[in-house]
Amino acid sequence: MMRQEKQQTNTVIIGAGPAGSYTALRLAMLGIKTDIYEEHPEIGIPTHCAGHISIHSLKKLGYYPLPKEIIENTFNAANFYSPSGTKFSIQLKKSVTCSLNRTKFDQHIANQAKQAGATFHLNTRVQSLHIENNYIKGVNLQDNTIVPSKITIDTEGISSRFLHQAKLMGFDRKGLVYAVETEINQVHDVEPHTVEVYMGSSAPGFYGWLIPRPDGTAKLGLATNHGNPQNYLKNLITKHPIAKKQVKGAKIIKTNYHAIPLAGPISKAYSNGFMAVGDVASQVKPTTGGGVIFGLTCGEIAANVVKLALDLGDVSAKTLSAYQKRCDDTLNFDVSFMLRLRQFLNSLSDERWDSVLRFCNRFNVDKALSDVEDIDYQGKMMMHVATKPAMLVALGYFGLLYLFANP
Ligand SMILES: Cc1cc2nc3c(=O)[nH]c(=O)nc-3n(C[C@H](O)[C@H](O)[C@H](O)COP(=O)(O)OP(=O)(O)OC[C@H]3O[C@@H](n4cnc5c(N)ncnc54)[C@H](O)[C@@H]3O)c2cc1C
Repeated sequence: MMRQEKQQTNTVIIGAGPAGSYTALRLAMLGIKTDIYEEHPEIGIPTHCAGHISIHSLKKLGYYPLPKEIIENTFNAANFYSPSGTKFSIQLKKSVTCSLNRTKFDQHIANQAKQAGATFHLNTRVQSLHIENNYIKGVNLQDNTIVPSKITIDTEGISSRFLHQAKLMGFDRKGLVYAVETEINQVHDVEPHTVEVYMGSSAPGFYGWLIPRPDGTAKLGLATNHGNPQNYLKNLITKHPIAKKQVKGAKIIKTNYHAIPLAGPISKAYSNGFMAVGDVASQVKPTTGGGVIFGLTCGEIAANVVKLALDLGDVSAKTLSAYQKRCDDTLNFDVSFMLRLRQFLNSLSDERWDSVLRFCNRFNVDKALSDVEDIDYQGKMMMHVATKPAMLVALGYFGLLYLFANP
């Protein structure tokens, strides 16, 4: 079949998830001609996210407040449970997180990008990267059209089909957890502005969550690093001493499955004429699996580096390495902390979870955390609270447990 060639565009983006659309927005704001290709016919569908996001970080990105139909709820508290039902609660001084309707949030970002001048091509799947002389020079679409571009930005999510073509290492698949998320029609005995979190063997390698909405419906899900998450969810609903009461009689209206990369960002996310942003580059918090804020943050960095490279007329890996440096400077300290914390959390037996949560209650760790606002940059957050007496004791105790678990 004859291959059609489109006119050269400055930047092509693969995938219109939040990372792709936000990168497109920032590029368009810098006056850079951007075409974004999305394989699905509608932005934000299907969705695979609890949409639980820090208000502080949304504000920093200019996304708070948001239109009422996007914000489903706000939260100023969280309850953590061991598998036997031991509970530890944190009550914060103000609302620190919110849950978003991810479909509407994704569409909101895409609309802003369109208004700023980015061109969206829906229902259009990128088949492969277009490579000439060791440079990524655009993409090949499924219908064989070549779309030439000066820089290609891969924001395809965890499917990560193009990294190897760009001669980059993908993320460590050992760090993947497999999630099941459901919409349920009713919850009981749940505070309206409190997130419920189920730790330990209820969801090995991660945790379970219940995120209520004011209308009594909720998002219920979990992820695990082994086994079938659906079976763990069934156990949570039928056997967990607290969760089973909270969701008694509830109907599951919708179920989604998706994986989350927890191994930390890939160490090289650029090559000649190419950058990777968002889940594809594993720009995700290793503790909570939250990837929206890191994806948007790195999208903004990528757009600024595109501008730099186009102004210099040099899209080589050497110039684009500024992207890596700036992302590393922004994320690495916190990611290193979160990787250790994730390792620590994974090492706890259910009995240890009981002791840890009882310890947190006894030493009023909740009070030490009550004025926390920024929950995304957890290394810096810990530095902020570490000087409080309760946290010092807790850190000593957790440090010992960590050393015993990882001798
Ligand atoms: C169950 C679950 C719950 C989560 N909860 C939270 C949460 O509460 N808070 C949070 O911050 N994060 C959460 N996350 C993580 C969050 O969903 C991701 O980090 C985020 O969606 C990543 O955005 P992205 O744009 O990088 O990728 P994606 O959102 O995956 O978007 C990638 C886009 O690329 C498109 N695409 C892929 N391949 C192609 C192709 N070849 N051609 C064209 N288009 C293509 C896809 O269709 C998709 O639209 C959760 C994840 C899961 C699985």
